[in-house]
Parts: sequence; C-alpha cells; structure tokens
Amino acid sequence: MERTFVLVKPDGVQRGLMGEIVQRLERRGLKLVAAKFLLPSLSLAERHYAVHLGKPFYPGLIRYITSGPVLAMVWEGPRAVDLVRQTMGATRPWEAAPGSIRHDFAVEMSRNLTHASDALETAEQEIALWFSPDELVSWERPHENWFT
Ligand code: ADP
Ligand code: MG
Repeated sequence: MERTFVLVKPDGVQRGLMGEIVQRLERRGLKLVAAKFLLPSLSLAERHYAVHLGKPFYPGLIRYITSGPVLAMVWEGPRAVDLVRQTMGATRPWEAAPGSIRHDFAVEMSRNLTHASDALETAEQEIALWFSPDELVSWERPHENWFT
C-alpha cells in the first residue's frame, strides 16, 4: 500500500475543478486519508518546489502556486504514486493521455491544475512537508481486502 501527495493548484480551485479531481481519484479506487484547503506561504511553496530552484520557470512556478488557495491531499492505495500520476496525465497537457485530468481540462504546462508526487520517496517528503502525522486518517473500507 502506498500513500501519495496531491495538490489541486490555484487554477484548479478557481476553475471549480476540485470536485472533479477528487471524484476521479475516488472513482479510481484510491482512498483519501488527509485533506486541507489553504493558501500556501512563500516558504512552503519554496520547500515544496526546491527541486526546481534555479530553473527558468521557477519564479513563475512559485508565483503560480502561491497565487490562491490550494487543496492539499494524501491518497492511499496499491501503487498509489503511479496511479495518481497516470490519472493526472503528463506535465505538458498536450502530451497527456486522453482521459487524464491534464488532457481533459488543461492546455498550458504553467497552468496544469494538479501536482502529484513522482516517486515513493518524494511522496513521503511531501506528505511530511504539508501534513503533520496526526492529520493523516487511517480508516478501512469494507472492500479493502480486494487489494490483499
Ligand atoms: P509535474 O508537476 O508533472 O511533476 P515538474 O515537476 O516537472 O512536473 O514541474 C513542476 C511544475 O512546474 C509543473 O507541473 C508545471 O506547472 C511547472 N513547469 C514545469 N516545467 C515548466 C516549464 N518549462 N514552463 C513552465 N512551467 C513549468
Ligand atoms: Mg514534479
């Protein structure tokens, strides 16, 4: 079982796509274990995107992610990291697979609606950055043993 970190970025919130994005992850079969709605501070944004520090798009990316509230979530399931990346689609919306969120709702890489952890290790780091351990809710669904 894996846990992964997901953000609905400010454009997703402003375009009224929070419900759509949550619904797609729920329907896929993933389980929500944490969620909060917040305006990211500059320092949180810089820590979240530290890997991109120094790249040409970094200043714009920090402005983008701090431009309005975001929905931060942790989703759990078998292979959750890869499943969620696939449901989000490729970073460049014009390369995203049909049926993915970035394909279906986005046109620009710099306004691509969502963030999702790209590996188990970064998922652990991002979950720890955005949530305290007591904000993660462990719960069981009746059909959980489908996955065991
Ligand atoms: P992903 O969000 O798919 O993991 P990256 O980690 O490569 O993608 O980049 C983080 C975010 O930075 C992207 O989702 C996108 O919003 C933005 N970004 C990445 N590359 C560029 C670029 N060349 N120009 C503008 N924005 C970019
Ligand atoms: Mg990334």
